[in-house]
Amino acid sequence: MCLLSINDKKPDKFIERTRDKSVNPCNLVTFIIQYEGRKIYIPLRRTNEGWRTGSNQRNKWEVENKIIIVGIGKVSEDVKQHVADYIRMLMGELGFDSKVEVAGKDDQVTRCANEILLGSSSQGAIDDESFMGELNKRRVRDATLRGAIVMTVNPQEYRFTDPDAIYGVGYEDGLVILRETREEAVRHEIGHMLGMHSHCKNPNCVMKWECPSKRFCKSCKANLKALWSRVDPE
Ligand SMILES: [Zn+2]
Ligand SMILES: [Zn+2]
Repeated sequence: MCLLSINDKKPDKFIERTRDKSVNPCNLVTFIIQYEGRKIYIPLRRTNEGWRTGSNQRNKWEVENKIIIVGIGKVSEDVKQHVADYIRMLMGELGFDSKVEVAGKDDQVTRCANEILLGSSSQGAIDDESFMGELNKRRVRDATLRGAIVMTVNPQEYRFTDPDAIYGVGYEDGLVILRETREEAVRHEIGHMLGMHSHCKNPNCVMKWECPSKRFCKSCKANLKALWSRVDPE
């Protein structure tokens, strides 16, 4: 297992893991290590390759502990509310206490999302990686964009340039773009945002590529819990 590395250098010493909320506000799995004589706290995330420290570029939306639902184009208030209610329920189910808010049409975050989308889509095809890149750039100077953004679009108006992305996309940087707002699709993409990188093979698991179920299988649920609340590295 490749566990601890900062810019590919080995720490001097692994000290311990902590769940102390004052250094670990979101209950992320955090290790304390000694590096060049200093104590450093590192939140870890689970990836296909094992536990990683995450890149410095990643927006740590979990620090804000807020999820903002934004609607772009022809998306009704009802749809946004439904997505917000479902995510609130899901976070409760997982034992996370993130705030979930719905942004209004004239809010700064909605205006920004619109602008970014203009620059990262053409003829209704969204280049989600380009969207993500521009969003993260703006987050550096605009604090209103630093929570997790769950953007819902109307599937008649938008698709993705990536042909494999049908229902939506989810990034651990704190971005989900949804064409589908069925519960399965929302849960699947939020699963990606929470750090589940890979798809599950279990035919009864929502993390299978086709989202065939409304539930996480036992193993995916355990992985999520391990990632967010306790340490159980393989
Ligand atoms: Zn997926
Ligand atoms: Zn699964």
